[in-house]
Amino acid sequence: MKEGELGNFESFAEGLAVLGKLTKIDSAIRAALESSRVPPSEVRKMLKCANATEISNTPLYQFMTDLFENIGLGRMEITRVENFRYVFSVPENPVAKAYRLKGKKTCYITSDALEEFFTKDLGLPSEAKETICMNEGADRCTFIVAIQPLAVYKIALDTIDREIIRELRHGKGVGEISRELEMGMEEMEYRLSVLKNYKIIDKEHRVTEVGETYYMYMKNQVSAEEDFPAPWEDMQKITSAIAASESFAVAFESATFKEPMYEVDEEKVVNLSEEAKKSRSFAELLSKQINKEDEE
Ligand SMILES: [Zn+2]
Repeated sequence: MKEGELGNFESFAEGLAVLGKLTKIDSAIRAALESSRVPPSEVRKMLKCANATEISNTPLYQFMTDLFENIGLGRMEITRVENFRYVFSVPENPVAKAYRLKGKKTCYITSDALEEFFTKDLGLPSEAKETICMNEGADRCTFIVAIQPLAVYKIALDTIDREIIRELRHGKGVGEISRELEMGMEEMEYRLSVLKNYKIIDKEHRVTEVGETYYMYMKNQVSAEEDFPAPWEDMQKITSAIAASESFAVAFESATFKEPMYEVDEEKVVNLSEEAKKSRSFAELLSKQINKEDEE
């Protein structure tokens, strides 16, 4: 075998080892994300935070970082917060360490997990990508999650925020509105700061063009917000799901790699590592391989 033929992997044996580790993480991701839907009221608490320190104190952030660590994706930290974008980094990233080959980004399994968690479990359609990787020489892997703005507006603001916008549009003063809504000035100031942050109102509390568009859009939305228990209230359920998926992955791995019932065709496995570069998830990769074998 010529050098370089294995793509991301240094040797045939290493290719199998990495595949085994990542398959295990991938099954854990499937199992964890399946039972981790977060109610909009909790997502809102996170979206209203203006900086990384505030976010770090939300139950959702604590749940998310524990969950990702449990899955085997390392201890994630939030490093930057913008209205529609979060930046996360993972020091000592175990995914990056699974690969020994240096010089390129390797951790798409983490960006995929972030993307799915935000899109499916938080109800915030998102795109995630790795911007710099330990395997490129960085001291930690860094990921950016970009969220669809409309989804953020839909969840970040609640009915009280919309009442405030309505009254501001009618030209009422802040004091008058807070009396009408029986709301203390402290809460009122906080809500106004969130509305300013999202460019719904300007410094003089005038509703902006974005605010108008948002208000008109939401006025016609009739469906009530879903409410259900937060997944961290039953952490045991998720932990067992992860454990079960991992033992399944281990059983799968030992059946496939440790007690081969057929001779391993090295050519095929080299192709597998080529496929791995194209496939977005290992589940997809494995199903591709199985399908290919069926066809033959
Ligand atoms: Zn990486």
